[in-house]
Amino acid sequence: MESEPVSNSLPATTASVSVVVPVYRSEASLRPLVERMLAVLQGHPAKFEIILVNDGSPDRCWSLIEDLARANPRIRGINLMRNFGQQNALLCGIRAARFDVTVTLDADLQHPPEEIPKLLSKLAEGFDVVYGVPAEVKHSLFRRLASRLMRVVALQALGIANASQISALRAFRTQLRDAFAEFQGPFASIDVLLTWGTMRFTSVLVRHDARIHGCSSYSLAKLLANCFDVITGFSTLPLRLASWIGFFFTLFGIGILIYVVSLYLIMGYSIPGFPFLASIIAIFAGAQLFALGIIGEYISRMHFRLMDRPTYVVRQTAEYVDTKQTPTCPP
Ligand code: UDP
Ligand code: MG
Repeated sequence: MESEPVSNSLPATTASVSVVVPVYRSEASLRPLVERMLAVLQGHPAKFEIILVNDGSPDRCWSLIEDLARANPRIRGINLMRNFGQQNALLCGIRAARFDVTVTLDADLQHPPEEIPKLLSKLAEGFDVVYGVPAEVKHSLFRRLASRLMRVVALQALGIANASQISALRAFRTQLRDAFAEFQGPFASIDVLLTWGTMRFTSVLVRHDARIHGCSSYSLAKLLANCFDVITGFSTLPLRLASWIGFFFTLFGIGILIYVVSLYLIMGYSIPGFPFLASIIAIFAGAQLFALGIIGEYISRMHFRLMDRPTYVVRQTAEYVDTKQTPTCPP
């Protein structure tokens, strides 16, 4: 889905860019990533910064980020109190961004920083969000299946029209964060939050590299849990499903009642006993428990929400002010 570009476009050459990277178990790839990002960004927009958000990584990522920030004032580090998850870490970085355009990418070098200018040029055509969609995805089979499931969910449950083009490599206008300035709660989804602010999405094809160091931090169970969090956190589709199941079983029950009564009235006998009764009770009890489970899930979400569990908590930051760069968006 491509919506019409508008005329007040942001020329790529003058865009100031904040690149946000959530960092978790990425000690080995962080330095090469930053070097490659600097090589790309130094020749491109007028102003830029790189925000590295350490998501409670158990390895030495934070001290590495501190070293990088000390060596270059365009690199800013944020250290989260514990592991809050990729999306929450991203939200923290997005809120700290100081420039017109925010770019997000993964820390494991699967998203080549050399593709950033491509996204910026597309954004300059007048779009609000540009995804870098891999021409060929270098993930395991499970990971690809889970991503596909996630996209189906995004499409059906959340009404994201171009869900097939969602990716963690994105460029968007920082202004969009105003749409979710008030958002808080333990489960964030950047792609859903972006839809709160705009419909002008598009995508460009980019390269996707295989992971060189370590392996994905997402197991199949974690991916499915994430998927479920997004569905129940941002849509009421499961509740509607429960209503439809209830409606369907009401019709089914009425059908059985008519069948049993007519059998008695016309043929003069009732259906014999236990197997029929047991199966009917089992079917209805299953449907009821299923619907109750869904309702329970939403109640537990409200419970967490009432607890005011935070999206993230910052432990410390590493910033060495760059006097040559004045921010365009105060964080
Ligand atoms: N990540 C994070 N917190 C987590 C897990 C992952 O910030 O709890 C970051 C990680 O540093 C990387 C990105 O999310 O930048 C994607 O993670 P990963 O490469 O493990 O996942 P995949 O490539 O399978 O999507
Ligand atoms: Mg990865």
